Amino acid sequence: MSPNGPPAETAGARLDAREHNWAGNYTYRAERLHRPSTLEQVREIVANAPRIRVVGSRHSFNGIGDSSELLTLDALPADVSVDREARTVSLAGGVRYGELAEVLEAEGLALANLASLPHISVAGAVATATHGSGDANGNLATAVAALQLVTSSGEIVTARRGDADFDGLVVGLGALGAVTRITLDVEPAYQVRQRVFEGLTWDALFEHFDAITSSGYSVSVFTRWGKATDQVWVKSRVTDAPEQVRADLFGARAATSERHPILGIDPINCTQQLGVPGPWSDRLSHFRMGFTPSAGDEIQSEYIVARRHAVAAIEAVRALAGAVRPLLQVCEIRTTAADRLWMSPQYGQDTIGIHFTWKRAENAVKRVLADVEIALAPFAARPHWGKVFLADAAAIARLYERLPDFSRMVERLDPRGAFRNEWLESRVLGA
Ligand SMILES: Cc1cc2nc3c(=O)[nH]c(=O)nc-3n(C[C@H](O)[C@H](O)[C@H](O)COP(=O)(O)OP(=O)(O)OC[C@H]3O[C@@H](n4cnc5c(N)ncnc54)[C@H](O)[C@@H]3O)c2cc1C
Repeated sequence: MSPNGPPAETAGARLDAREHNWAGNYTYRAERLHRPSTLEQVREIVANAPRIRVVGSRHSFNGIGDSSELLTLDALPADVSVDREARTVSLAGGVRYGELAEVLEAEGLALANLASLPHISVAGAVATATHGSGDANGNLATAVAALQLVTSSGEIVTARRGDADFDGLVVGLGALGAVTRITLDVEPAYQVRQRVFEGLTWDALFEHFDAITSSGYSVSVFTRWGKATDQVWVKSRVTDAPEQVRADLFGARAATSERHPILGIDPINCTQQLGVPGPWSDRLSHFRMGFTPSAGDEIQSEYIVARRHAVAAIEAVRALAGAVRPLLQVCEIRTTAADRLWMSPQYGQDTIGIHFTWKRAENAVKRVLADVEIALAPFAARPHWGKVFLADAAAIARLYERLPDFSRMVERLDPRGAFRNEWLESRVLGA
């Protein structure tokens, strides 16, 4: 037994050649997987690895998290600790939102927002600027109050909101080091109810866009680009005032039974609807913990554009409906507030995200993505880092004014390039 934890053999294991991401569309090329259980072991492994990446819950759809060696932090003690005075919670780098939510619920606390599912790791979501929805809600990385990371020399770096360069560290794309602890803002627990409205026309969406996206705390529009949108999911925070139950939303009818975002799929794995109040952690995501989320066997892409271009950008995609629809499971349109995090797609602008859940037809999807990226280019669309996109580093460089600062930060924190990988070179740093 080493003084720092279990025997060294458990810290390095041969990676199964078939090890792949959640969706199954990306097979990791890594040959070793390390599973340390102490911070000291993380430091040693990182300092000795020629090339390494932390792997989170593997929910990304591309090679962002690949390397010749991978490190999972899921054996580190979760060590979730609440600081009531600072209104924060801190947790280890391998914790998932679902596990965190259980602890927060027990403490009567909450996060401001969640993505569509609670199964993802907090550090992995933060690294890629994962977001939920809501006009006034920033992406999930904006909740980060402090970070601790192990850099490629094995040193521990800590930074908190307000420190120089903190805004560059948070959405780090996994390129700056292994995030071993994260501190997030929390607030008193609250209840949420969600209602689904069906058949919103395109005209109504365009005419009342602001009123629709502000009709709840978190709003999602689902569509398959038919004659009308399919569904609007409205999640509202429960207040003391009685709910003003609406039978329709700008002509869209309130659903009378539970729905899955994809029409025709059993909603059994979806969070409860029909206005039934429930804890924030069981309503803000679309999918419930303990169930396999979404439809599986899918690919996702998402483009984030400035909110002022919302209608024109949606129209541009709608014009491609004929090519998009045969490959599509469903699209989701959400809003996210502006932030100051250098590599966040929401940097400096309130945004909408146009998200695609595709069928697993990789080559055909990439052909359609070429058209989608051309259609969205006039709006300077920024692709979601964790999803499939075609833009290369030269195109990305035009979209991120703080990219030169981020590149310098990568050089400074990782001068030997241990956290660099093919994805980072070709999509972000290589221009
Ligand atoms: C079904 C499904 C639904 C989704 N819904 C949403 C959604 O609602 N909104 C949205 O914006 N996105 C969504 N995503 C995308 C997803 O949130 C991102 O891909 C996110 O990065 C996944 O986190 P992960 O832990 O699985 O990361 P991974 O894919 O494992 O890793 C992503 C990146 O984070 C880095 N990383 C992970 N942990 C650490 C750490 N401790 N230290 C340093 N770097 C680290 C990795 O190196 C890699 O670069 C969804 C994905 C799926 C499969």
